[in-house]
Amino acid sequence: MTFDGLVHPDDLDRATKAWGRVATGGGGTASEVEARLRRRDGEWRHVWVRLTNRADDPAVGGIVVNVTDVTDRHEFEKKLTHQSLHDALTGLPNRDFLRHRMERAAAAASDDEHSVLFLDCDDFKRVNDTFGHAAGDRYLVEVSGRVVASVRPEDTVARLGGDEFAILLESTGVEGAAIAAQRIVGALCPPIIIEGKAVHPSASIGLASGRLDAVHPETLLADADLAMYFAKRAGKGGYRVFADEMRTQLVDRLELGEDLRQAVESAALEVEYQPIVDLPTGRIVGAEALARWHHASRGWVGPDIFIPLAEELGLVERIDQCVLREACTVGRSWIDDGLHDLRMAVNLSGRDLDQPDLVAQIARVLHETTFPAGLLEIELTEGVAINKSGGGQDILDALKSLGVHLSIDDFGTGYSALSRLRSLPFDRLKVDKAFVDDIDRVHRGAMLVDTIIDMAHVLGLDVVAEGVETTSQLDYLKERGCQFAQGYLFGRPMAAAALTTLLKRQRLAVLAPVGHLAS
Ligand code: C2E
Ligand code: MG
Ligand code: MG
Repeated sequence: MTFDGLVHPDDLDRATKAWGRVATGGGGTASEVEARLRRRDGEWRHVWVRLTNRADDPAVGGIVVNVTDVTDRHEFEKKLTHQSLHDALTGLPNRDFLRHRMERAAAAASDDEHSVLFLDCDDFKRVNDTFGHAAGDRYLVEVSGRVVASVRPEDTVARLGGDEFAILLESTGVEGAAIAAQRIVGALCPPIIIEGKAVHPSASIGLASGRLDAVHPETLLADADLAMYFAKRAGKGGYRVFADEMRTQLVDRLELGEDLRQAVESAALEVEYQPIVDLPTGRIVGAEALARWHHASRGWVGPDIFIPLAEELGLVERIDQCVLREACTVGRSWIDDGLHDLRMAVNLSGRDLDQPDLVAQIARVLHETTFPAGLLEIELTEGVAINKSGGGQDILDALKSLGVHLSIDDFGTGYSALSRLRSLPFDRLKVDKAFVDDIDRVHRGAMLVDTIIDMAHVLGLDVVAEGVETTSQLDYLKERGCQFAQGYLFGRPMAAAALTTLLKRQRLAVLAPVGHLAS
């Protein structure tokens, strides 16, 4: 047999040289070489070979070749290397692998810009909680597959852990990376079917670009991470490009969060009440309690800023508890003042629904304030109300069993399936201000409002129009059979005492002709 039939072509040169060295080196020369040899059945085996020249040894008189088959060890090492650089669940490269790739890109002294996308799945915890960890794993594998399919083969998609992924796009500037980010967002849209239910995956993506000789790879990754945080805050399912201001904004937000924590702890938040009016009679029939925060140096900070912040910091549950307690106390004082049948509406956040003892807490507040459950109305925004899959319905039923009423807030801003809406125990639907605005502004804009009102009536829900500001909106809504409205036209949110005064005046005017209440 010749060497070239036995030794793998790629190893032939090395093997021949080692042999030559030992053969010509004379007695005592030795050499070692690793090579692949062909077995009789044709399979290649990794072997470790030691060659020793024993030509001088009369008992041997030749070259001794010791061959050890190291194929299994080889495979094992390969697997170990793979495992230490890859994620077991998805088979994707891991953080070490990504770092290695970024360092390689940094070392390749070129002027190219590189980009990193930092991707974090939205509401992954909910998938895990609702369907279990096996389903959560399948979700992650599906997401990783879609991400890989959305980028070029030479891009590195790594799983950083949990529901976080990073994608290195070498020699790609911010424009190209933005297109990739958009493609990923689109690819995630189709539902994944888990236990017969369609789950819509989505992710928030941060994008950072730079020349790696100027920016440290870890910094680029951290910038993309920060941009991802801003993408989340902007409403999820989208991407944001890193900008330097994000760092200062983050610090700013951390400070604001700290101040909010202190305000909550020292019970410094206030509550205002906005009247809700019955359109056929023009009378105030209830109010919505709205949280207010006066910041020592920034002045009034709106709930659209501090409520999401409180949700992020896990403070919203306490805020909503306080608002509820105070609102029920005010509601009780109206009854004591002989102002009967006035409903009090409070807002709950999606996070409240995750509290296992929410229903018991509300029951306790109702009991302690002796406010009748039948006059309390709980508002949940459409997204929270409808999209709470699984556990959501149980909690809504439990709330209903207390005797309180349930409203869908900001209706029209979510994407709810009508079939879901029909099966949930709601009493009222609040049409979002954006649709009410359209009555005056947009050609045929009022048609959407008509449709929502008709649909609500078919489903047996009362309708409240939010944010009514003009008499033409009022006239239109009345004509279309919308029963309730709320808005600056009737009254801005105000202190409890101010609303109580209005209500008392209204009671005195009961025998007088009723005009509308703007004052
Ligand atoms: P929302 O529940 O839809 O409350 C109605 C919002 O519309 C209030 O804004 C109110 O001041 C505003 N509004 C009412 N009429 C008009 C109008 O004619 N024109 C205009 N431009 N605006 C009008 P606000 O107080 O800024 O609250 C914003 C959102 O913050 C609320 O929307 C609610 O989702 C949330 N929020 C407020 N207080 C609480 C709270 O105690 N707990 C929770 N979880 N969320 C709250
Ligand atoms: Mg509301
Ligand atoms: Mg609303």
